Amino acid sequence: MWIGIITIFPEMFTCMIKYGIIKKALKKNIISINIWNLRQFSNKKNRKIDDHPYGGGPGMVLTAQPLKTAIQTVKTFSPKNTIVIYLSPQGQNINQKHMHKISQQVGIILVCGRYEGIDERIIQHYIDEEWSIGDYIVSGGELPAMTIIDVISRLQPGVLKKYSIQEESFYNGLLDYPHYTRPENIDNKFVPKVLLSGHQRNIQKWKITHSLKNTLLKRPDLFKKICLSNEQKKILQQFKKNY
Ligand code: SAM
Repeated sequence: MWIGIITIFPEMFTCMIKYGIIKKALKKNIISINIWNLRQFSNKKNRKIDDHPYGGGPGMVLTAQPLKTAIQTVKTFSPKNTIVIYLSPQGQNINQKHMHKISQQVGIILVCGRYEGIDERIIQHYIDEEWSIGDYIVSGGELPAMTIIDVISRLQPGVLKKYSIQEESFYNGLLDYPHYTRPENIDNKFVPKVLLSGHQRNIQKWKITHSLKNTLLKRPDLFKKICLSNEQKKILQQFKKNY
């Protein structure tokens, strides 16, 4: 997957590409990350990229000219059908299902805003979609862009084992089950016996039960969005009865 980033702080991304899943996906050429400094597209002498908002108000706004030139230029380097995304608190909230779909795209260009945001005419005429990472404000689009790159990289075939993605929270609409590792005893708090039994069917049942339990206790709203199997319904009813 081809990923383009337009930002006034390209250095912020240099750290991200050195670690973990993203480093692995880059090394295997499964993703390519192409970072563009917005300032290089400014036709102002001092490479200015922002200005005061018309109508007054606090803060600055990223001006249209460098953004337009940047998007048009980056598009000439990106694969056909690349979509242009503006990271914005006003966009649709991203979720795992949405990211699964997006991870199949050939290319995306992520436009990072700063200050009060970007000139509205860019959003209306040069942006295909607006995405938000949640109903709160961060100072710029760089951290949201990094979050999205991480999520998408994990979902690219060949980066992680398929089953490790399938067992994670949200894959089937539920939360993950709890995880334990050595030692078996911490201050007399023991690992559930079934996980040490080697009995795969019982372990599987425990995982399903505790995935349902976690979801019920932490995110009951998720049940509204999914259709449970008969086995899951039975386990859930049993758990509710005993709770
Ligand atoms: N004035 C804007 C508003 O209230 O909608 C917020 C601007 S914010 C301080 C600066 C930039 O950070 C935005 O242009 C956007 O690129 C990014 N940003 C802030 N919060 C975000 C979020 N929840 N999701 C995605 N991007 C966000």
